[in-house]
Amino acid sequence: MKIAVNKAHFPVTVLGPGRRIGIWLQGCSIGCKGCVSQDTWKTDPSRQMTVARLLGWCRQITTDMDFDGVTISGGEPFDQPQALSALLDGLLHWRSDRGADFDILCYSGYPLATLQQRHRRLLDKLDALIPEPFVEARPLTHLWRGSSNQPLVLLSERGKKRYAEYVDAPADSADKRIQAMADGERIWYVGIPARGDMAALEASCKERGIEFSAVSWRQ
Ligand code: SF4
Repeated sequence: MKIAVNKAHFPVTVLGPGRRIGIWLQGCSIGCKGCVSQDTWKTDPSRQMTVARLLGWCRQITTDMDFDGVTISGGEPFDQPQALSALLDGLLHWRSDRGADFDILCYSGYPLATLQQRHRRLLDKLDALIPEPFVEARPLTHLWRGSSNQPLVLLSERGKKRYAEYVDAPADSADKRIQAMADGERIWYVGIPARGDMAALEASCKERGIEFSAVSWRQ
């Protein structure tokens, strides 16, 4: 089974509790106005890899290391339902095989009601979900969410135990919202920026003589 992946990173500490594996899938058909991850929108065959290879990377990057969870984002993970299902099956198998206690959190831009109608089986494989489209006109109010319409939905017993305290947690309750990484000629960030953060970053880099040739928050 192939899956289209934009990037993967470990450790991610700004999208869910603790130190996490972050997986961003490639391709999003939703197109929320103001999305800061527009580089993930395009369907791109060159981003395809096997689910087995992605799972192998997850195992290898966390060898002999404790970690707390896996966050799957995008892009729109539910635009690849079969690949997402295979990935979740692999993660669940690994979790029980390793006797580990990591949780699985997934983002989606689809409404919760749509996911419950069309993807019940996928939801059964998750511990927590942050659904609903990003709405630029709604403020950033809650931890790990981009706009105030996006709930944190607890789906499993593990999810309820681990995430209950974060359901109403305010956006500023974590010490940082964004991580930045350098990867060859590319600098990329993960997390939930506040409105204007990326424009401020761009302006501040420009003042220091660094101009971005392409950015993910506009096309
Ligand atoms: S915010 Fe998420 S769902 Fe909305 S366009 Fe961006 S990647 Fe797609």
